Amino acid sequence: MSPNPNRDPKYRIPTGIHVHDRDVENMTRMIVVNHPSEQTGEFQVAGTGKTVADYNEDYSADAAVVQVVYQWKLSKELPDWKSIKIEDLWEEVQDTELKVYSYPAPRMKSVTSVVPKTIKTHRELICYQSARLVHLSVTIDPTNSFAENLMWGNYDKRLSGDIELSSILKENKYQMKENIGLCMYCGKESKTTFDHVIPMDNGGDSEMGNMVPVCPSCNSSKSNKNVIDWHKKHDIPVDRVVLGKYLKLLWEEFKQEGKLDEPISETLHDRWDGVEITRNISQTLYTDARLKQ
Ligand SMILES: [Zn+2]
Repeated sequence: MSPNPNRDPKYRIPTGIHVHDRDVENMTRMIVVNHPSEQTGEFQVAGTGKTVADYNEDYSADAAVVQVVYQWKLSKELPDWKSIKIEDLWEEVQDTELKVYSYPAPRMKSVTSVVPKTIKTHRELICYQSARLVHLSVTIDPTNSFAENLMWGNYDKRLSGDIELSSILKENKYQMKENIGLCMYCGKESKTTFDHVIPMDNGGDSEMGNMVPVCPSCNSSKSNKNVIDWHKKHDIPVDRVVLGKYLKLLWEEFKQEGKLDEPISETLHDRWDGVEITRNISQTLYTDARLKQ
C-alpha cells in the first residue's frame, strides 16, 4: 500500500470536490460524497444485482469506486451542505432522498481539470494550471464556495505579471536530493534516482529545474514520454513539485520561441484536459520530514 493516502487512487478526487462525468457530453456538476472500500468489480449497484464494473466495461474492474450526487440536487436537499464537515457529508446524504450514483473513480474528473474555453493562448494555459496548483494547496476546505474565485484571482495576477512563475513552489528546495526514498511520480516508497521531466531526447537539460527523484519502475516506464501524458495514462495525479517544474520549463520554452501569446493547439488542449494534481501539502511535509531523518 502507498505510504501516502494522497496517492491512493481511491482518494484521487477527495470528498466534497466538484466533478464532471467523462462519459457524458453535458457538464452538469456532481459532488463526490463517498469512497466505498470495494472495487468496481465487487461493488453492487443497489437493486440491480450488478456491479459497477458491469455498467462500465471500458474501465478496469480493479478501479476504485466513487459515489457522487448532482450538485443542484444536493443544494436543494441540503442547502447548508457546504457547512457540513467533510467526514459527516456521507451520513447526511444518506438521510436524504438524494439519488447516489456509483462510478469507477477514473470516470470522474475534477471541474478545474477541464480547461475552460476562455483559455486560448500558451500564456493563459500556463497561468491557469499554475493558479490551479497554488489554489489546491491553499484550499483547506474543498467545498469553500470562494475557492474557485480565489483561483481566478490568482490567475489574473499571474496573467498580469504580478506573480512570477518562479514563485510557484517554495517546497522545490526540498527536492534537490536524488535519493529521497519516495517516488515523485507514483508516490511509493522506493530507492529513487533522477528522471528528466522533459526527456533529453526532447531537448530537456540536466539542470535541477528539470530533475525529479522517481523510482526505477516509473523512470523506465516514463522514459522519453511526455510527463503529463504518462501520468494521465496511469491515472496518477501529478505531484505539485513535478507540475511546478514542468510549467516553468514550458513557460521558458514558449517565451524563448516568442510563442507565449500564440493559440493552444488541439493536441496541447487535449493533453491538459483532465489533469489531476495532488491536492494538499501533506506529500511535501512527508518528504521534508524524511529528509530531516
Ligand atoms: Zn514510482
